[in-house]
This record gives sequence, C-alpha cells and structure tokens, in this order.
Amino acid sequence: MGFAKASPYLNLSIYWACLLWLRGLKEANLRIPSLIGGRMSKEELVNVWRSARIADEKLIEAFLKVPRESFVPEELKEEAYTDTPLPIRYGKTISQPTTIIIMTTALDVREGQKILEIGTGSGYQAAILARMAGEKGRVVTLEVVPELVILARENLKKAGVTNVDVIEDDGSQGHEKESPFDRVIVTAACPGIPEPLLRQLKPNGILVAPVGGLRIQEMVKVRKLNSGFERETMGEFMFLPLVGKHGFREDELD
Ligand code: SAH
Repeated sequence: MGFAKASPYLNLSIYWACLLWLRGLKEANLRIPSLIGGRMSKEELVNVWRSARIADEKLIEAFLKVPRESFVPEELKEEAYTDTPLPIRYGKTISQPTTIIIMTTALDVREGQKILEIGTGSGYQAAILARMAGEKGRVVTLEVVPELVILARENLKKAGVTNVDVIEDDGSQGHEKESPFDRVIVTAACPGIPEPLLRQLKPNGILVAPVGGLRIQEMVKVRKLNSGFERETMGEFMFLPLVGKHGFREDELD
C-alpha cells in the first residue's frame, strides 16, 4: 500500500494539511476529503517536498519526468498526484508519492547501479528507480501476481521506461541469477528481512524495506558492511503483505 503514518513526518503533514486547506478555501471546497487527500498538481507536491527538504533535485527531476498518471487506472487519472496510495488492480495499490520519495531517498540510488525491487505492483516505483539509475543502470523487479506483471510492463512501456525488467517470481527469495545488487527495495510488508535479500546485496549496498506486522511496519534501512550490517529505522508505514517463502504465511493473511 505504501502509506506513510504521520508521526515522524508531522511537520510535513501539518504543512501539507495547511496547503490543502488553503487550496480548499481557494476552490471554495471545504469538504473534509479535500483536507486529507485533496487533489494536488505535480508542482504542488514538489513544492511541499522542497519546503520540507525531504527530496533532492535529482529525485524531484525523476518524479517530474515519470508520468504517474500512466500507472493508475483510467478512472483515477485525475487523482494521480493526490498524496495517497491508490488502488491499481487485483486488490493491490500504488504507494503514496511521499512514501516513494522517502524510500527512494533512503536507497541513495547512484547512476549505473543495478537495483532489485520486490513487489512491482503498477511499476511506478521501478520507473522512478530506473530514472535515478540512468541509462547505464538497471532495475529488476519481481511480482507474484501474473496480471500485474503484464500491467506493469504495459505501464512502463507507456511511460517510455526501457531499463526495467519485470519478472514473475517470488521476490522473497530474491533473484540469485542476477545477484549481487547495489540496492534492494521491498515495497511490501515483511515479517522480517528475507535472508536471501541480504545475501544478494553487494558489500556497502543498501536495502530498504517495511518490516513488522500485517497492519503497521517500521521502515528499515540496512547497509551491508564488510562484516555485518548497519541498521537504521525511519518511522512507521502501512504496506500490503509480502507473501511467498520468506513472507507472511497464507493463514496469517485473513
Ligand atoms: N511498488 C508498487 C506497489 C507495491 S504493492 C508500485 O509502485 O505500484 C505490493 C506488491 O507486492 C503487490 O503487487 C503484491 O502482489 C507484491 N508481492 C507480495 N508478495 C510478493 C512476493 N513474494 N514477490 C513479489 N511480489 C510480491
């Protein structure tokens, strides 16, 4: 799902609520939904991030270049820049833009890197990573729902992104064949960090994943050192569950 809880980003949330409130006033549209998930333009979202200093200009440029509207269903195109997760298909969601920004910033992507994403969904996060990695870089993204694999490939094509490979597989086991990776990102809630993902990370590589229960997770950033790992947490988020060998068990999901 990719929904940032307010706590660690309270200032940003207050700023955002005020902005939406002012915008609501301007449009004489004072309904509560406009305060918590009001329709925004790409530029307004970017201005919020710039003011809150949570994204660097390279990431903002990537965000501006990738058409999010190509990754949401036709009927939700007008909501593409609302700062909230949106349903895609098959019960899945595209993450909230601010969550994408927070995770991508933590991942510290450099030009030319090889990145592994677990949980392709719409393909939007993969597209942002691909822009950050540039033409010499590459994103391998794994998805378990076959229909989403097809949808994400179509979305990426529509958006003109060519350096992403969408593969249908259980991402909780990583992607041994093309390992090691410079960066690994999981966009589904993990009960614990899957061991294969840590193993398939290059030395000095970074992994970002939401780890915790089915309802709430802590965003975790791990850097692989020569011996061991350095771990940092970045606040609470809500994601759809990771399934598969190292994900939540089927009987835990109901
Ligand atoms: N990154 C996506 C949103 C991800 S939603 C975007 O930008 O739109 C979480 C996704 O993880 C869902 O599509 C779900 O099917 C997928 N998923 C869950 N468990 C998985 C697993 N073991 N391997 C690969 N994908 C998985």
